[in-house]
Amino acid sequence: MTSPIENGRGSLNSKSLVQGHRFALSKIYDVAIVGAGIVGLATVLELTTRYPRLRIIVLDKEKQIANHQSGHNSGVIHSGVYYRPGSLKARFCVQGAADIVRFCESYKIPHAICGKLIVATAEDQRPALEELHRRAIANRVSGVRILGPEQLREFEPHATGVAALLVPGAGITAYRRVAEKFAELALAAGAEIVTESEVHAIRANNGDFLLETSSGEIQSRFFINCAGLHSDRIARMTGAQLPVRIIPFRGEYYQLSPEKSALVRSLIYPVPDPRFPFLGVHFTRRITGEVEAGPNAVLAMRREGYRKSDFSVEDVSDQLSFPGFWRMAAKYWKTGCAEMYRSFSKPAFVRALQTLIPEIGEADVVPGGSGVRAQAVDRTGALVDDFSFVIHGKALHVCNVPSPAATASLPIGRHIVQTAATHFGWN
Ligand SMILES: Cc1cc2nc3c(=O)[nH]c(=O)nc-3n(C[C@H](O)[C@H](O)[C@H](O)COP(=O)(O)OP(=O)(O)OC[C@H]3O[C@@H](n4cnc5c(N)ncnc54)[C@H](O)[C@@H]3O)c2cc1C
Repeated sequence: MTSPIENGRGSLNSKSLVQGHRFALSKIYDVAIVGAGIVGLATVLELTTRYPRLRIIVLDKEKQIANHQSGHNSGVIHSGVYYRPGSLKARFCVQGAADIVRFCESYKIPHAICGKLIVATAEDQRPALEELHRRAIANRVSGVRILGPEQLREFEPHATGVAALLVPGAGITAYRRVAEKFAELALAAGAEIVTESEVHAIRANNGDFLLETSSGEIQSRFFINCAGLHSDRIARMTGAQLPVRIIPFRGEYYQLSPEKSALVRSLIYPVPDPRFPFLGVHFTRRITGEVEAGPNAVLAMRREGYRKSDFSVEDVSDQLSFPGFWRMAAKYWKTGCAEMYRSFSKPAFVRALQTLIPEIGEADVVPGGSGVRAQAVDRTGALVDDFSFVIHGKALHVCNVPSPAATASLPIGRHIVQTAATHFGWN
């Protein structure tokens, strides 16, 4: 499945990946990872670095690696402003941003530290902006400061607001390229990465896992689930009942016309609604130069539903049969309806953009691509905020790694390997 938004074009030589390979059962792996997104690939990279003698395989159902969330995101290197001090998100984002920048510098992956503004467009948003400032300081994000209306225009001459938080260390990159480099390094270190290999079922076999895939069966002693939008299903296949269900939220983008892209220098964000993990519709200058506006957050009717018309009976029944879904709907139906309206109404989407840049008109934006977020929702209907991982027997399941997990991918990979090492006795 491809969608118009991609974090840079694929550059990894596909011959270095095995596609649709059929497995010989004689080989038993030490670790099997499902999911060659940025999280699964950061994990295999860390595994090969720490345990070079392990036999490791990464399986992905798609032809290309990083084909879902990791290849359909905003490409922002977040700084760690938004997240609750002490949370995994806060710690891993701050560390991950520094790691990603160093990684991009080392491997000549396009990136830029362009800075970002979070703009309060009305007085009643000021307390929330100040809270973000406090969080940024608590999370040790360097250089953040509050700007007044004139100062903010020095950074973004076309933006308006009563105040803004300047985050000078925020940046942009192409996460697909980052993920491909992770894969290239892991392959060179001896790991196997097999695409077009969908895991359908998982059985126990003498204390090992037997994975039934579209390209044959493989056996592995340990198992790591990095399956993104399908991670709860993969967990169920191993007998683990995660306390959450993955609910897909589509994020739709518009693109600024080339004549109007000069209205945005770098990254302009609104003050987010603190009840939601989503950051609100923002302007992002991509590493390729064009400017995008979005993403919104619309409930998707299919886990990989990039288009409004995408619908899956299995995915929708999965949502409807989960009590947490109904509780979430009861809590947030008003916001959900407003997002849905904005999804179908270009004037409404543009009105949201005009609160940040009043000069933008309907003729200045054209529909862009989309991405689908894997958001874990618990049985109470709460959207799980922090990153979360569950150990079940000899398996580790990645339950919730939404944004800023691309920024935080290297620390997440290290955390997964450290958690596995501790629980599985690898040390
Ligand atoms: C619209 C959007 C904007 C975002 N913006 C940003 C941003 O600016 N900055 C940031 O840091 N983060 C951002 N994020 C978040 C970030 O992209 C994700 O958190 C991250 O990519 C998650 O990576 P992953 O490896 O867990 O998931 P994925 O990339 O989705 O990878 C999961 C993989 O598992 C595979 N898989 C699933 N089921 C099976 C199966 N049965 N058998 C085999 N393979 C399977 C899939 O094919 C897929 O490749 C954004 C996300 C979205 C959707």
